[in-house]
Amino acid sequence: MAISISNHRLAGTPYVPSPNSGGALQPKFIVIHYTASGEGFDTAAYFAKRAAKASAHLVIRRDGTLVQCTPFNMIAWHAGKSQWTGVDGKHYVNLNRHAIGLEIENWGPLRKSAAGWVSWSGTLVDGSRVVAARHKFGGPDCGWELFTEAQVEAAFEAARAICAVYGIAEIVGHDDIAPGRKSDPGPAWDMEGFRAGVLAANKRVA
Ligand SMILES: [Zn+2]
Repeated sequence: MAISISNHRLAGTPYVPSPNSGGALQPKFIVIHYTASGEGFDTAAYFAKRAAKASAHLVIRRDGTLVQCTPFNMIAWHAGKSQWTGVDGKHYVNLNRHAIGLEIENWGPLRKSAAGWVSWSGTLVDGSRVVAARHKFGGPDCGWELFTEAQVEAAFEAARAICAVYGIAEIVGHDDIAPGRKSDPGPAWDMEGFRAGVLAANKRVA
């Protein structure tokens, strides 16, 4: 299912605007995040509160549902202190001005308890949706909540459309641009495969 973009919004996608955004975005990157929350928490509603002091362009829920919070031509607050050298050879610092942020609903790291895997908030996460791994930048072995197939597919379609419309050639994780400070999306997200798949899909249609 291909998604189209008009007026810097994904067609047919609910829009819950965030006040934590503004200024012109010059897109160079897509940054992938996890929300560090479960499906009981409405991240888009949270971003709609000024006190959150955070936002993203898209939220992708466990069932693959997309919610847009900021238009793609406007800066959202998701990357924070960050840096990255782009394929254009330029060094970028604090990437919000150049990055479209996708927040994917996922607990992130989980710790083993007597009852099973639990999130930072103490929520029990079923072992069938957990992979044990170590982050590529180090840290302890721990559990990581798996992303759903519907989320991977929705993120793929959204990223494919965004890259095509805005001429974006780079997809990075929050952990890549803020190593040590951030661990999202972490080892449960196949970043290499996702990046290669999105960029190859656009080459095929170009
Ligand atoms: Zn993040």
